[in-house]
This record gives sequence, C-alpha cells and structure tokens, in this order.
Amino acid sequence: MKIVALFPEATKGQTENNVLDDYTALNLRPFLEERGHELVVLKDGEDDLDQHLKDMDVVISAPFYPAYMTKERIEQAPNLKLAITAGVGSDHVDLEAASEHDISVVEVTDSNTVSVAEHIVMTTLILVRNYEEGHRQSEEGGWNLTQVTNHAFELQNKTIGIFGLGRIGRLVGERLKPFNVDIIHYRRSSQEDTDFSKYVNFDELVHKSDVLIITTPLTPETDDLFDYNTISQMKDGSYIVNCARGKIVNKEEVVKMIEENHLQGYGGDVWYPQPAPSDHPWRTMPRNAMTIHYSGMVIEAQLRIEKGVKDLLTHFFDETPFPKEDVIVNGGQITSQSYAKHDDSNN
Ligand code: NAD
Repeated sequence: MKIVALFPEATKGQTENNVLDDYTALNLRPFLEERGHELVVLKDGEDDLDQHLKDMDVVISAPFYPAYMTKERIEQAPNLKLAITAGVGSDHVDLEAASEHDISVVEVTDSNTVSVAEHIVMTTLILVRNYEEGHRQSEEGGWNLTQVTNHAFELQNKTIGIFGLGRIGRLVGERLKPFNVDIIHYRRSSQEDTDFSKYVNFDELVHKSDVLIITTPLTPETDDLFDYNTISQMKDGSYIVNCARGKIVNKEEVVKMIEENHLQGYGGDVWYPQPAPSDHPWRTMPRNAMTIHYSGMVIEAQLRIEKGVKDLLTHFFDETPFPKEDVIVNGGQITSQSYAKHDDSNN
C-alpha cells in the first residue's frame, strides 16, 4: 500500500528528541518497510500532496501542520481508505466527504490531553498577570512598573468558563481549581455539574466568564462561533484562551475587540490556516499570548502519537476494529459524539 505522510520539517541539529518531523517520521519507515508498504514523506506540504492523490491508500498528517483533505482532494483520491490524524482534532479532513467515500478517519485520542491542558493553564496566567508586557520590558531594558501593573491581576476569585468540557477541558478545570477560582462550563453532551465546575448555558458562560477557555472541536456548529456578536457579550476586560482550533474564533473581529479594549487579552496556539501566514494579525495584535501550534506536540506527546499511529496502522493492516475512542468516521458515518451533528447544540 502507498502511505503518504505530511510532517513538519526537521530543523538541522534539532532531531535528537523530535520524532514527529519529516526526518524521523514517527519511525514509520522501518515499521512500514518490513510489512512491505511504501511510505512517502512530503517535503513541500500541500503542493506535493496533490501529486499523490491518484494512488495513495492512506494519508497521515498532524493538526500542527495539517494536510487539508478537502472534498475536492478526496474526490481525486479513488484508492484512499484511511486518514490518520497524528494527534487530536480531525477538522482538516472534510468529514462529510470522507463519510460519503467510505474513508475512515481516526486520531490518537488522549495523546496530548495533558500537554494542551498545561499550555492552557500557562496561557491563562500569562494573560491575567500581564506577563507579556513585563517580559517585553525586561528584554528591552525598560522599568515602567505601572504600565505592567495597570493590567496585572491575581487569578484567584476570577470566574473561569470552559466551553466544551471534554478530555482537555476537564484537565484544565482540575488544574485551575487549586488557584481558588470559580469554574463554570458549557458542553452539549451533559448538563451535569462536576466536582469542580457548575454547568451553565452558553449565554451565561459568555456573560459570566473572566477567562473563557475554548476546548471544543471545530465543527460546523463551532466554526466562527466567537464572532463580534458573541465576544461583545463578554465582560469588559475579559480574556479568551483558545488552544482548540483557530477557526472557532473570528480572526478579524477578535482583533477589533482587543483594539477597542473590550477584550483585555487573547491567547492560544491555534490558527487558520496553518502554517499561519507571516502577516496573520494575531501575530502582532496587542496583548496577545499566542504561540505557534505546539502545545500538543511536546516530546512526551510526540512519543504517544508515534505509538498511537503505529497501533492504528496495525489495526488497519490486520483488519481488526480501531479502538472506538479513536474513530471519527467509519463505515460511512461520523461516529464520534464530539463531531456528530446534535439538534440540541444551542441548549
Ligand atoms: P473531546 O472530544 O474529549 O472533548 C470535546 C468536548 O466538546 C466534548 O465534551 C463535547 O461534548 C464538546 N462539544 C463538541 N461540540 C460542542 C458544541 N457545539 N457545543 C458545546 N460543546 C461541544 O476532545 P478533547 O480531546 O478535549 O479535544 C478538544 C479539541 O481540542 C480537539 O477537537 C482539537 O480540535 C483540540 N486540540 C488541540 C490541540 C493542540 O495542540 N492545540 C491538541 C489536542 C486537541
């Protein structure tokens, strides 16, 4: 079989720890060769991918540097049977088109939950304590204390709102609770409170949060959900942390809300498209705590992703069922509860 993989380009001299790059390629070369399969690791991202559509059987890519498997590409890939997400979050694949063409879409569920949750906690503290301004002055030789402190606060007693309390959202809540904060959440799968968080509806979440943390997948329902209209209903001086997907937030309108000083800060690691163009406005907007998309790609996560991708390929070759929690699309249906359409999504 022909397996095509798109991985981030390895940096010279930085290959001793990384496995999720085009040099080590998750150690898939020996793994696949000894089973008699061909592995093509793409060098130039998207352009190269198109050359292989006609005869590839499996595509593998990571959300950090995704191969966008659009409807058009899927239609040009008659042999494609499997799309593996080397990580978590399969929105770079057109899931409806994959279902129609009976292509399975699977991911390595839970491979980077802790990694992302830690990044979200870090980003929350960076924003609320105005770390970025303090750090900028430290680097640039400044000592204007009041310029930092005018927007530097404690986290305790703030209301943290978690949008989508799944694997990452739960860990974020558990890790933030000891900061003595009030935690509220909205998810569509259950209206139950948890031991650390109170369930509220979406409007309450938006109105009450000092820090609103987004941890849902990108779906047609969450696409562009945080636009001017939604953000303007948040408290003056509040913050958004988004390590879920960039497209859940409206790119231009969040900048506007920051510039109008309605939002005090915005942070996270996800963009649209990825890689983000060098002139993407989130790179330079005021009071941002953005990084490039690496929160779920720290070394421990990469090693779990390597193991998970090999396990998924083994199930595929052996024709044994994929672990249920890893399956997004199978048998012509979107089976993942996180991605399937819900009629009550506005409850
Ligand atoms: P999960 O499936 O465990 O949790 C998702 C939660 O969102 C579930 O509780 C689900 O009910 C809820 N949800 C889905 N649609 C909703 C809607 N319309 N309204 C309200 N709630 C909704 O997923 P997870 O492992 O916690 O990951 C969440 C997302 O985070 C992934 O889909 C991915 O996009 C992103 N992610 C980012 C990184 C990164 O490196 N930045 C890494 C992993 C995952």
